[in-house]
Amino acid sequence: MSVHRPSRREFGKLTVAGGLAAVLAPARAASNAATVTTIVERTVPAMRFDSEADFAEWQDQLRARLLEILALPEDPHGHPLNAHIERDDETEQYTVDRISFTPEPGEVAPGYLLLPKDRQPPYPVMICLQGHSPGMHISVGRAKTERDQRSIDGGRDIALQAVAEGWAALAIEQRGFGERAEEGLACRDASLRTLHCGRPMTGNRVLDVMRAIDFIEAQPGLDASRVGCMGNSAGGTVSFYAACVEPRLRLAVVSCAFCPFAHSWLADPPRCPCGYLPGIYSVADMPDLAGLIAPRHLLIVAGKDDHLAPVDKVREGFETVKAAFEAAGVPDHASLLVGDGGHQFYPEAAWPVIRSIAEGWET
Ligand SMILES: [Zn+2]
Repeated sequence: MSVHRPSRREFGKLTVAGGLAAVLAPARAASNAATVTTIVERTVPAMRFDSEADFAEWQDQLRARLLEILALPEDPHGHPLNAHIERDDETEQYTVDRISFTPEPGEVAPGYLLLPKDRQPPYPVMICLQGHSPGMHISVGRAKTERDQRSIDGGRDIALQAVAEGWAALAIEQRGFGERAEEGLACRDASLRTLHCGRPMTGNRVLDVMRAIDFIEAQPGLDASRVGCMGNSAGGTVSFYAACVEPRLRLAVVSCAFCPFAHSWLADPPRCPCGYLPGIYSVADMPDLAGLIAPRHLLIVAGKDDHLAPVDKVREGFETVKAAFEAAGVPDHASLLVGDGGHQFYPEAAWPVIRSIAEGWET
């Protein structure tokens, strides 16, 4: 087969005219789209939810596979936490502490702990995770730039929302973001490197959430039996997987992060590498994995115009979630809320549901 290769003169003309990209890009895009479709279509998840199978046995086997894929250490709690807490600020309504802990040797996770003044300890705790925003200061409403303020305007000051609702809010910085971003290294670059070194970025971030619960357990004012985790986008993704493998999380609030893989992580254009897990789709789809959270609580928040998680596909996927929670005997422990907008959090819709879930814990 002969392939036409442009002569040096032809290349020169194309480059000077700015036309080389126009010639090559459409061909490359078409080829990528075809490849993605073929790969996805020929992949059959081997451990999908099956209403006929033994639910508890399926959960155990799927969770064990997911733990392997996340590449978590055999004993995630095996290293000293080296927890540090220092008062940073206070208002009439709440106190703010700067905290840090060591999830594993060589890693320090900084965070903010907000405690409400109008409640008595021990407080229920909401772990608050930002996505691809400038960092955890967004969670506590501390805008440094106009971009930060736009992010907050999209309902992302979730630690402030949680403390106003009577929760202790533990906002931690996720690896690769904000104070934990390495100089000059974008999330995608850090994610590819960590993946090649043995653990996907999502595994790193899930490990941090597990150790954050170890931190909570060590604080007498915090109630480790009432812990939730929430976040938008990449914060929702980590909240989801953390709840799949961490039984101490009683609630996951997964905002604009739940969607069948074929229409999110496996769709065009490719997403940030931080959310890719080796082999996950050959094991299960995201709606199947949600069954690992039962009988605990899962609140999925979607946006009707979220271009990263098409709402019709989110609704389709939620049918499987409902069936799995029904098989677990807790059909009302999984909820889906659809906000009237795009890829953001919807506090006005979500908090009444969270409130009612947490009230159920206290009775
Ligand atoms: Zn990323």
